[in-house]
Formats: sequence, C-alpha cells, structure tokens
Amino acid sequence: MEKTLVILKPSCVQRALMGEVISRFEKKGLRLAGMKMMQLTDTILNEHYAHLKERPFFQRVKDSMQICPVIIQCWEGIDAAKVVRSLIGVTNGREALPGTIRGDFSVSAQENIVHASDSAESAKIELKRFFTDNEIFDYKLSTYAHLYA
Ligand code: ADP
Repeated sequence: MEKTLVILKPSCVQRALMGEVISRFEKKGLRLAGMKMMQLTDTILNEHYAHLKERPFFQRVKDSMQICPVIIQCWEGIDAAKVVRSLIGVTNGREALPGTIRGDFSVSAQENIVHASDSAESAKIELKRFFTDNEIFDYKLSTYAHLYA
C-alpha cells in the first residue's frame, strides 16, 4: 500500500466541490488515512512550490492558495500516487480530459481544484510537510477483498 498527499485548493472549497472530489477518491477505492483543514502560509508554500519559484506566476499561485483554508488529505491504496494523479488530470483544466477532476471542474491553469503528489517519492516528502505521524490513521477497510484481488 502507498500513501499520497492531496490538497483541496481554495477553488475547490469556494466552489463547494469538496464532497464531489472526496467522493471520487472514495468511489475509486482509495482509503482516507488523514484529513484536516489548514490555513496555508507563505513559509509552507515557498517550500511546497519551490520548483516554481522562477516562474512568473509564483506569487499569484501562492496568493491564490491563501485566499481561504484548504483541506489536506492523505489517501492510501496500491500505486496511490499514480492512481490519484490519473483521477485529477493534467495541470491545465482546459487541457485535462473530461472524466478527470480538473477536466470536469476547471477551465484554468491555476485554479485547478486540487493538488496531488506527482510520485510516491514526493508523496513521502509532502506528507511529512503537512501531517504529523499521529494525524495519519492505519485502519482496515472491510471492502479490501472486493477492491484488490
Ligand atoms: P501540478 O499541480 O499539476 O503538479 P505544477 O507543480 O507544475 O503542477 O504547478 C503547481 C500549481 O501551480 C498548479 O497546480 C497550478 O495551480 C499552478 N500553475 C502551474 N502552471 C501554471 C501556469 N502556467 N499559470 C498559472 N498557474 C500555474
């Protein structure tokens, strides 16, 4: 089993899409291992989006992520990072395929509803950035036998 980090961005909170997005991860068969609401700061966003710091939209993205609190989640499953990335679609909502979260709910490169770790390796780093160990819960889903053969 693998764990991955998801952030329901301000665009998701403001547009009342939280239930819809959570429902997609649940219906796919992922297990919610942690969830909390958090007001992001410049400090944590400088770290989280360090790979974008030379891009012209860096400040705009950071501002947009602080407009209101976000929902931080840890989802678990086999190949969870890859599975979640395929459910959310590519970065730009106008290019994301219909059926994906960004493809169905976003028409923007920036306001794209959700963040998800891009690999199992970055998920480990990002989970440590946003969660303490005692905020991650290990429990069994009674549906495992029906999810994975
Ligand atoms: P992803 O979120 O798909 O992993 P990146 O790590 O490249 O993509 O970018 C992080 C976030 O920065 C994106 O989700 C989006 O909110 C914003 N962003 C990326 N590219 C652009 C862009 N060209 N214009 C505006 N915002 C962007």
